[in-house]
This record gives sequence, structure tokens and C-alpha cells, in this order.
Amino acid sequence: MADHDILQGSLQSEYKTIKAMVHIHCKAHHPHLSQCPTCQEFNQYALMRLDRCPYGEQKPTCNKCPIHCYKPAMREQARQIMSYAGPRMLLKHPILAIKHLVNEQRRVPSKPEQNVSNRHLRNNKA
Ligand SMILES: [Zn+2]
Repeated sequence: MADHDILQGSLQSEYKTIKAMVHIHCKAHHPHLSQCPTCQEFNQYALMRLDRCPYGEQKPTCNKCPIHCYKPAMREQARQIMSYAGPRMLLKHPILAIKHLVNEQRRVPSKPEQNVSNRHLRNNKA
């Protein structure tokens, strides 16, 4: 079972996008490491945040989200990864990149609905 299998639909493609960006950034900035612990930790953190995002599949893209759930150190890491890998995504992963750009145009609900997080749905499956 891949780690992203716990996520549904759009959350799963968002996680794939994050992982692809982390990979691009890591290869350029931590090239001496084959299994980079910093980036693995970041991926796990991103996965956990996506799982717990109260918007669930209605989740806005992170730069448009009113919540900003990342703790400061992780948020700074995310900023560096996105600013390096963002412009490179269109070449390396055009489909993921375009999906993200389309999502960015979606309107952001001011408040999440009740109980729609991936984790809630996962734990309350009939
Ligand atoms: Zn790394």
C-alpha cells in the first residue's frame, strides 16, 4: 500500500503534486542523499496535514487557504520547495501542474463543511 492510498480523489493528486515538487527540490538541493530524511519527514507531514484538512476534497490550494495549518518551520520549508519546484513542474509533470492551476481558480469556501476531512471519512466508513 502506497502512503497516499489513505487519501481520496483530489487530495491524493494534491499529495502526488507535493511529492513530485519535493523530489525536484531535493535532487537539486540535497543531491548527496539517496534517502533524504528531511524531505521524507516533510512528505509525511504534508500527508498528515492533507488527511486532517477540514476542507477535505473541497480544499483550496494552500496559497489560497485561509487556515494555514502548517507549523512555521514546515511552512518555510514548503515555501522554499514551491518556489524552486513550482516553475519546473510544468515541464516535468504537466498534468499535475495543470490540475493544480485549475484548482487554484476554484472559489474558496469561507468555512469548511462539518466532518468532511479525509481522516474523518476514513475513520467513519460504514
Ligand atoms: Zn531532501
